[in-house]
Amino acid sequence: MSSINAIELFPQIEHRLFPVCTQVTLNHGICDSHCVSCPIGRLNHGDASEEVRNEFRPGTRKQMPFDLFAKVADEVARYPHAWLRLHARGEPLLHPQIVEMVHYAKQSGVSIVQAFTDAISLNEAKAVAILKAGLDVLECSIHGHDGT
Ligand code: SF4
Repeated sequence: MSSINAIELFPQIEHRLFPVCTQVTLNHGICDSHCVSCPIGRLNHGDASEEVRNEFRPGTRKQMPFDLFAKVADEVARYPHAWLRLHARGEPLLHPQIVEMVHYAKQSGVSIVQAFTDAISLNEAKAVAILKAGLDVLECSIHGHDGT
């Protein structure tokens, strides 16, 4: 049986001190898409498994408070090789403080702030605002040309 050698996997010392990518869920279980490959999409379809329905039962689908986000951003900012990715188990652009969060992360010194989005809620005003706030990368995921 082979084993994973962390030193071979992460030859640069800073990569062993702190992860390269910190992924933050701003909206736990809250999304406006219906991706069939995703538990949240399945919830929105209404055909999620019992396990998923239990994980995202009423009261658990929450938005990250700004103070908690700021703590994470401050920590990531201490490592110049590390970047912050806004996604996972929810749509980041639906967070009401997304612009302020991106701005805070950049001001605190995070080298790369990236958001992964379905872009459904993205309009011109929001796009301009998050770019002005300093967002470095906007990754758009398009699953289909009709309802997904
Ligand atoms: S956009 Fe992302 S969080 Fe939303 S349903 Fe699709 S994969 Fe899941």
